[in-house]
Amino acid sequence: MYSQRLTEFTKEHSDVFAAAVCGVLLLLGAFALHLGWLGWALLLLPAAYVIGGYESAREGLTTLFKEKELDVDLLMIVAALGAAGLGLWQREYHLIIDGAILILIFAISGALEGYAMRRTERSIRSLMSLTPDIAMVLRQGREEEVSISQLKVGDEIVVKPGELIPTDAVIVSGYSTINQAAITGESLPIEKTVGEEVFAGTLNGYGALKLKVHQPPESSLIQRVIKLVEQAQTEEPPSQQFIEKFERSYARFIVIAGILLATLPPFLLGWDWETTIYRALTFLVVASPCALMAAIMPTLLSGIANGARQGILFKNGSQLEMMGKVRAIAFDKTGTLTTGIVQLFQVIPAGNYSQADVLKVAATVESVSEHAIGKAIVQAAADLNWVSAVEVQAIPGQGILGINKDQQVIVGNAAFVQKYVTNLPEDLQKSASVLEQQGKTVVWVAQGGIGRGGDGEMGGQREKENSKFNTLSPTPPLFHSPTPPPFEVIGLIAIADEVRAEAAATIARLKALGVEQIVMLTGDNQRTADSVAQAVGINQVYAELLPEEKLDVIRRLQEQYETVAMVGDGINDAPALAQASVGIAMGVAGSDVALETADIILMADRLEKLAVAMRLGKRAHSIVKQNIAVALSFIILLLVGNFLGNINLPLGVIGHEGSTVLVTLSGLRLLK
Ligand code: ADP
Ligand code: MG
Repeated sequence: MYSQRLTEFTKEHSDVFAAAVCGVLLLLGAFALHLGWLGWALLLLPAAYVIGGYESAREGLTTLFKEKELDVDLLMIVAALGAAGLGLWQREYHLIIDGAILILIFAISGALEGYAMRRTERSIRSLMSLTPDIAMVLRQGREEEVSISQLKVGDEIVVKPGELIPTDAVIVSGYSTINQAAITGESLPIEKTVGEEVFAGTLNGYGALKLKVHQPPESSLIQRVIKLVEQAQTEEPPSQQFIEKFERSYARFIVIAGILLATLPPFLLGWDWETTIYRALTFLVVASPCALMAAIMPTLLSGIANGARQGILFKNGSQLEMMGKVRAIAFDKTGTLTTGIVQLFQVIPAGNYSQADVLKVAATVESVSEHAIGKAIVQAAADLNWVSAVEVQAIPGQGILGINKDQQVIVGNAAFVQKYVTNLPEDLQKSASVLEQQGKTVVWVAQGGIGRGGDGEMGGQREKENSKFNTLSPTPPLFHSPTPPPFEVIGLIAIADEVRAEAAATIARLKALGVEQIVMLTGDNQRTADSVAQAVGINQVYAELLPEEKLDVIRRLQEQYETVAMVGDGINDAPALAQASVGIAMGVAGSDVALETADIILMADRLEKLAVAMRLGKRAHSIVKQNIAVALSFIILLLVGNFLGNINLPLGVIGHEGSTVLVTLSGLRLLK
């Protein structure tokens, strides 16, 4: 058991192990040389070369032969071998030790970098290993084991105390405390009971729960995130590509400079050959950009790992740094600043219609909506008698329409409905503006348009309109018919959506962190938007925006503030999320499109994590800057020192690799 763990450990950390063995061999070899046992020294030191340098040599040669490119690994090996060769030639055996030190320290810094990389991968992978493979399904009163992939929407499953929740579901009976640390980073368990949603991969506490599966298991939050992370891992972030390109051309430059340095000085400066070659080798070492390369990736990887532990998922490292530079943030309203868990507040019918009529008609089109408003309406109309409309078309950020029996049904905000109905009833408009001032969202319901005229001509017209309608035109051509279509407002539905408890504090904290401008973007009405903005402390509001207009606002902000973040959840936020320098999506409330487009995902929709992400980004940014400064000054110092002849190879190696280890360790600080 123990030995098995040990073999696993050495396999995973083979680089650490190789560095350790190399170190021991080097010590013994140096000791042997000191005692004058030349034979032993010439056995132990080459062994240190082989074990410590094997991995780098393999990588370096692969790059050389496969891609016809030089990399820094190979330069290090060449420098070390050069030192050993020079030592043997001149019988200055301490030079062999110098070379071995170079290899050892190079191996150590490689191992450290590998460690940071594995830590990151593990924190992200731990997300993935958390979902169980099977669930206990209730079928005809009996429990049956079913694999997760076979779960269907509507299935009832049982989760016993202490078990992992197998898929996103809603509690239908029971009460328990749930530990959501795996996806939110929040270690305090949260109390949950009937009607509340639980997430795959979270841990059930002491209560037994009966759950109803309300969405296909493959679209559970954790599964969606896993898919995104897997995608992100197969693509190299641009920053990494840049570093690699830089490394290659820089390595070529060093080789050429090294060759010149090894050949010209005896003719130009009158140096002897030994000094010349020695200094050229030292040059190879100190000019290598190892410290520069270690300045960025370990830092960003550590930051990503840290974020993942706290429920902030950065899709790649460059976004972490970018987050530290954000000067303006735009927030979506519904689902982002508000919970998006909307409730019906009031239904006001028009004319001779009843409240039930309004709900029924709205529900016919909303039955297929993914929007929170739609879901709330359908829930409220659950006990009424209606059937789903056909040819339903959702217009993101505006509303939804479809055909119910022989009627065209339109549900959406005032501007949208007014494209079909010339004027909204005055009394309803008054009620609407009162409701909007209270921060309620008002949705208008109208119907009519087709099947009313009944004569042949109208019928023909209808066919044509319908087929055009299929082409997703947001403004159906009915509008253009010579006689205005007999659309009629049935009523309005006011919807209450609670502002997130942490929204105001988060916005205050972001301002304190130095964000210069915070704005709200919403497709909702101006009055509703103003009311929510006031509650959370935002004074710049852009309301009644279409998805493209949200994008335009981001663009304008970018002109003024350069680095602009956008936080959103909806389909209508996707263009803006893509345009923003940093797109941030809400994990739970977020639509698939938003999750895919965003660079950062707030796993549990906790807005206060924005401030955490920003602080992390700022720290990453300043550590990277410090690291680059340290790396560059070491390189310049050592180069000058080498040219003036003030440093020997071990000093060069220690300075060079020491600075590499230093910046790597400095990057690992972000794990804390
Ligand atoms: P945001 O997230 O930008 O605040 P929404 O996605 O809620 O905005 O859309 C803006 C407005 O469009 C809503 O307030 C609502 O009036 C209308 N709307 C959008 N989708 C629907 C829908 N499915 N049913 C009714 N109204 C809708
Ligand atoms: Mg939204």
